[in-house]
Amino acid sequence: MKNKHMKNQYIDIDNAREDEQRAVMQNIIKAGHCPFCMENLQKYHTSPFLKETKNWLLTTNRWPYPNTKHHLLAILKTHKEILSELTAQEGAQLIEILAFAQKHTNAPGGGFAMRFGDTDYSSGTIVHIHAHFIVPDIDAPDFEPTKFKIGKDKEKRKS
Ligand SMILES: [Zn+2]
Repeated sequence: MKNKHMKNQYIDIDNAREDEQRAVMQNIIKAGHCPFCMENLQKYHTSPFLKETKNWLLTTNRWPYPNTKHHLLAILKTHKEILSELTAQEGAQLIEILAFAQKHTNAPGGGFAMRFGDTDYSSGTIVHIHAHFIVPDIDAPDFEPTKFKIGKDKEKRKS
């Protein structure tokens, strides 16, 4: 694939998982936008918002991980990239919106995870802080456990 190491300050396409996702990300990179900032979210994110609080939005992941029954994203409404930028209130409201996600999906169990900072370390695609809420589809006939990767593969790193 050409544009292999295509990247802007908000997106690392090396960590994208699907071709359609890569195509969408390439357009966003060309525009120089952060896809998760509020003014761009409606432009690029076609999934409905399930809940909005003062600091967070809850929506479905357009590219859910394999083996998930529910894969939601809680997106911070201001542009921040590292954990130490978050306020205590933003932290508390993250747990509140994840609790809503649990009730909303009627999840008997699952997990949530959040990456931050340098995408070589996080293996995130979008650096704008967001948390993943994941309920695995354990009843699927070909089910395999859902895996959440942290850290980019050696061969995909630039140096
Ligand atoms: Zn942003």
